Amino acid sequence: MELKSLAERQPALAPAATLQIDLIESVRRVQGRLTTPWIESTTETLGARLSSGTPLLEFGQIPFDWNDVRLLIRQITDVLRRHEVIDATAANALHAVGRSATLPDVMRAWFEFEPSDDVEMLGEVLGWAARPYLQRTAEVLQQRISLAGWTRRTCPMCAAEPEFSVITMSGERQLVCGRCHVRWPFDPIACPFCGNDDRTRIKSMATPDGMYRVMICSPCGRYIKALDTRKATRPLLPYADVIATLPLDAAVMQSMG
Ligand SMILES: [Zn+2]
Ligand SMILES: [Zn+2]
Repeated sequence: MELKSLAERQPALAPAATLQIDLIESVRRVQGRLTTPWIESTTETLGARLSSGTPLLEFGQIPFDWNDVRLLIRQITDVLRRHEVIDATAANALHAVGRSATLPDVMRAWFEFEPSDDVEMLGEVLGWAARPYLQRTAEVLQQRISLAGWTRRTCPMCAAEPEFSVITMSGERQLVCGRCHVRWPFDPIACPFCGNDDRTRIKSMATPDGMYRVMICSPCGRYIKALDTRKATRPLLPYADVIATLPLDAAVMQSMG
């Protein structure tokens, strides 16, 4: 809904918003068929993992339905092809991965950040295909244990980097995982990619309405966008906010020359 109205309000964002809508719809069809994963670990075990800095989610716990994952890879590839994000050669390579007998190994390698075959957009496609399963498992784990004590740079569930952040009403910051969309607290100043916390070396920009901010880190050259809930009229919508803030990405690129 938000993406549809965004496309109407800001026609320049319409192509990205409609692509995002098509991707979400592919994923939503399998979401209704998901089974609830059975997590054997006790709350004590989960707590001990977190305090030792080990993310909670293990590949073997994620209840992938490989037939549905294959279907998702095919549909997501077709969406990207239809929107001309990839060419026919790349689409064929992605389809081949989806049909391959080794798909579970390819998915595990992706989940564990191991470099794999150089197929264009493979990480993105696997990310979309895995997300419903990752999210469901993360939801179940979150009902068992609080993430409030985890203040590291990567996701307490799946170890991925943040892709977005939220500034809360009290001015604290939460990072949002790029893979499973889980949120966790993080220093409001420091760079979540390199840890730099020298505020003279972090540049901040905001949209005119103040709803979105971006913090750009000089030492590592990376940046993270944020929804400032003190200025926003709604909570974070991860799928919509990454698209709504594309003009901010463009502004960052420009400022970096
Ligand atoms: Zn995650
Ligand atoms: Zn940095």
